[in-house]
Amino acid sequence: MTKRVGVLALQGDFREHRIALETLGAEVVEVRKVVDLEGIAALVIPGGESLVIGKLAHLFGLLNPIRELVAGGLPTLGTCAGMIFLAKRTTGSDQHQLGVLDVVVERNAWGRQNESFEADVVVKGLEGEYPGVFIRGPWVSELGPDVEVLSEWQGHPVMIRQGSIIATSFHPELTDDLRVHNMLLSFEGK
Ligand code: GLN
Repeated sequence: MTKRVGVLALQGDFREHRIALETLGAEVVEVRKVVDLEGIAALVIPGGESLVIGKLAHLFGLLNPIRELVAGGLPTLGTCAGMIFLAKRTTGSDQHQLGVLDVVVERNAWGRQNESFEADVVVKGLEGEYPGVFIRGPWVSELGPDVEVLSEWQGHPVMIRQGSIIATSFHPELTDDLRVHNMLLSFEGK
């Protein structure tokens, strides 16, 4: 059966996620209002600016409805700013976050925009390497007990999983390798 997947479309590179998910055969709904969340089987939170995503989500009354769905077991993928938005806290920055992912993150930890880089990372459960695109991404500085590290780069977790939530410091939506999106679609919701 075709899965209906919500992509939070307030800011950031939601179009790229849409393309990746549609390539995998999912039906995509761009989420801008609470009603857009109805009937989705998974959710993606894109890369972009987590401050802006948080502010707009607050403004549009989306924080609590999304928080409840994700905490209730909705399979969710957050990439880069999406990882920050999912996290419980960000070092040195007070911003609207969902707080459903038991990690502390540090924003822009890999350097500035012109220090963006690509690195082939090893991801637990995937064969070979995965092309990691890092653009002012966060790293995870504290991990809760239920968080599993799926990938590390230079000693820092860059892909993590907590139940049916996956978060990456890098941008799987900016590569042709759809295995991270596929992982999300393989999760069964509660
Ligand atoms: N630096 C951005 C933030 O703090 C994240 C960058 C990205 O998503 N590429 O939200």
